[in-house]
Amino acid sequence: MSWWTTRQNDAALSGDAELMMVPRWSIALAVLLFVAMQVVFHLVLPHHKHELLPMRLMMGFFWGSLFASYALLLGYVSQDVKRRDMSPGMWMLVCVVLPCGIGAVVYFLLRQPVLSRCPNCSTQIASSYHFCPQCQFQMAPVCGRCYRGVKITDVFCTQCGHDLAQDGAPARLRAYSDQ
Ligand SMILES: [Zn+2]
Ligand SMILES: [Zn+2]
Repeated sequence: MSWWTTRQNDAALSGDAELMMVPRWSIALAVLLFVAMQVVFHLVLPHHKHELLPMRLMMGFFWGSLFASYALLLGYVSQDVKRRDMSPGMWMLVCVVLPCGIGAVVYFLLRQPVLSRCPNCSTQIASSYHFCPQCQFQMAPVCGRCYRGVKITDVFCTQCGHDLAQDGAPARLRAYSDQ
């Protein structure tokens, strides 16, 4: 058992999976808002002068994209709060009520780390943990003497100078320290 396999799972979850988290309703809402903005600028607002068409196209596209991205952002936040054990209702409200995307900025500043499950006992753990609090499963590479976090390429602990090669790291990690 080691942190290595869990890290590979984490890598598979990032990137594309991050985008896949945006729910269908928010994609639909984004398209709807974009179309609605085109309707507003081309049909609802009065326009008598044809030479203003490029301006109308630009404004429609600008506001349409703005509202559409906001809908996608809301969708992302609504899913993101769940895996961080935060209150979905409160944070959606903050994102909607605070204007100009300030709510979303506040959310990204204050959000808690993603919770994952211990591969060994399924306890919910924060990504900053080095060991599972319930079964001592190792989640991240740590120094064998002071138990502070180390990089997998480190040969000695940066905090206490311990020789990390003595820690019985997985073979994959020992390969680094032999060089
Ligand atoms: Zn555990
Ligand atoms: Zn150390």
